[in-house]
Amino acid sequence: MHVLKFGGTSVANATNISRVIDIVRSAAAKDRVILVSSAISGCTDKLIAIEKAAKEGKSFTEEIKFLKDKHFDIINRLFTGSEKKTAEDKCEEIFKEISTIPDGLEAYGELLSTNILAYKLSCEGEKTKWINSREIIIKGDIERTYANIRKVVDENADMRILVAPGFIASDTEGRITTLGRGGSDYSAALYAAGCSAGRLDIWTDVPGIMTTNPKDVSKAQTVPFMSYDAAWCLAEHGAKVLYPPTVEPAKNIGLDIHILNTFDPANPGTVIGTGKASSLWVGISLAKDTLCLVADDKFDRREAANMIENTLKRCSIDVMDISFDKGCVLVKVAEGLEKEALKALHKEFFQIDENNTRLLYIAGKGAVGTALRNMIDKTSENIKAASGK
Ligand code: ADP
Ligand code: ASP
Ligand code: MG
Repeated sequence: MHVLKFGGTSVANATNISRVIDIVRSAAAKDRVILVSSAISGCTDKLIAIEKAAKEGKSFTEEIKFLKDKHFDIINRLFTGSEKKTAEDKCEEIFKEISTIPDGLEAYGELLSTNILAYKLSCEGEKTKWINSREIIIKGDIERTYANIRKVVDENADMRILVAPGFIASDTEGRITTLGRGGSDYSAALYAAGCSAGRLDIWTDVPGIMTTNPKDVSKAQTVPFMSYDAAWCLAEHGAKVLYPPTVEPAKNIGLDIHILNTFDPANPGTVIGTGKASSLWVGISLAKDTLCLVADDKFDRREAANMIENTLKRCSIDVMDISFDKGCVLVKVAEGLEKEALKALHKEFFQIDENNTRLLYIAGKGAVGTALRNMIDKTSENIKAASGK
């Protein structure tokens, strides 16, 4: 079984959905597939706004119209003739429910996107079935969740593709709930672990986990391999590309997580698994006011702290606090300077400089490390001249 999860931007419009269909169909040519999808981008935020407006007794007709237009535009572009009518009828039914402001409204976006995907795959001739994650994923009861997943997979052995909404679940009392914002990644990991899948892919809008958020630093690079722990650390401290709870179910069964780009499917992206990154430092993330520099091996805390302090001092950024947590260094800087500090630290730890020389970090002070440092000290004038620092 191959589990593939697609995020909001991957299903944002008909063009993107067509890419998703291509990726899923080529996976289904090789193995049975569970396709997990998020709501189309922006939909969950709108549903939350509708819920809020309803609670406050305000009008929400504009928001519903906005969502309807978006979904019907997708249907209009993906389907023709009687197939279009069937897809419209299905979405119309879901929108009728949405207008009644049902419990768990925020998760209805996933019902819309996955119904469109499942129907499109059927129309393409794939043996496809939509499955109800609300009845399958029981938040707070992993054993029941896994038993439900095994059952639905076994009972539908004649189906090549099962399509499951991400994010949505039930609590142990049977009430509708969600797995938290960004939770579709976790839905996919649960499906994968529950059916002992051979492969788990998280398809998104970037080419894997990168050394930092490429929206903050354009020179961020994809990290080809990293351990489960390093990925968890980056995610937990702000790397939105992966929802942190996703790691555990995969780690428990030793299943690699592939982070891939829907818009560049040939790019190998990142493999999170039992292997380690090829360099000591794997990335830096930022959550609120804390920078988190993550290593994929043991490192010398004092050396790391010195390197961080010196880098930030050169940029006149005051370091308020440096602390350590398992494989990462947590750094707090003066308020408002977080992004500047992120850029400076990324440059120091991850960027190849203009002379195309690698930045060097010595993790230990054994015989080899000491000899190397002596050599560097002896040639420091030459190094300064070459680097211009
Ligand atoms: P999806 O909708 O596919 O779940 P998300 O928006 O949740 O996608 O996550 C992808 C986004 O995560 C990227 O567009 C990127 O801006 C952000 N991001 C933050 N940190 C990183 C990182 N270290 N590597 C890659 N992307 C990151
Ligand atoms: N649609 C949900 C959200 O926006 C879940 C997800 O995309 O993973 O948070
Ligand atoms: Mg996400």
